[in-house]
Amino acid sequence: VIVPILIVPLLVGAPIRVVIDAGHGLPGNEGTLTALCDKEQDVVLRIALDVAARLEQDGRFRVLLARTATRAPSYARRVDAAERFGADALIGIHLDSRGALEPIACADGRVGYHGEGHAGFAVLRSDQGQRALVDRRAQLSRSIARHLAGSGFAAYDGEDYPGLYWPDRTTGVFVDRRGLLMLRAPRVPSVIIETHHGANMKETLAWREPRTLAAFSEALAAALVELLQPEVMGRDTRNVVPASGSEVKLSSPP
Ligand SMILES: [Zn+2]
Repeated sequence: VIVPILIVPLLVGAPIRVVIDAGHGLPGNEGTLTALCDKEQDVVLRIALDVAARLEQDGRFRVLLARTATRAPSYARRVDAAERFGADALIGIHLDSRGALEPIACADGRVGYHGEGHAGFAVLRSDQGQRALVDRRAQLSRSIARHLAGSGFAAYDGEDYPGLYWPDRTTGVFVDRRGLLMLRAPRVPSVIIETHHGANMKETLAWREPRTLAAFSEALAAALVELLQPEVMGRDTRNVVPASGSEVKLSSPP
């Protein structure tokens, strides 16, 4: 038997397929307003574009952005796109608005919100659906939360979440009680990351800084690789069967 060593380099580079979805971007659904009067849909789009670019540059990922403009496909269409893409992970990017908020007047007459405290990230997952999928979401959300915490991001304590989300056993992970479509409907593992508390001025300013975005992307990449790289390589081992006439010659059985 001729050992097909030429296949090996193909396996090492097998990319993890990630869909990044910037939340909102729908008529009448723009999300909250931050302490700086920015719309959530615009802030999370900037974060999503930055993260996607960094992951693509990393080389270990293939990234699909579910939303690239202010107006975007419906959430159902984004789910379809993620499934067609064969996503290993679907990551929704949002920011939160939590606790007692004080209205602030924005320059254009809209009302923004300011509220100190309640800071930190939250990773949301659903426990609805098939067991295997629920388990994958749990692993994905916990891996992301652990890596974010390990990179110095503070985890939200969930003080204002009762009725909406239940705390998971991993700090910073919460289980959805609202039945959010992007968490329960996709047949690929999906989570939502509430990156920070948008009414908290300190966090709002920090998330404008490139070093915050870089640290976030690095933590996310590490979490995805830890969880998915062995499986991706396993999958491609099955897929990369040499076609006849390729450079890899297999001998006939005796
Ligand atoms: Zn949101």
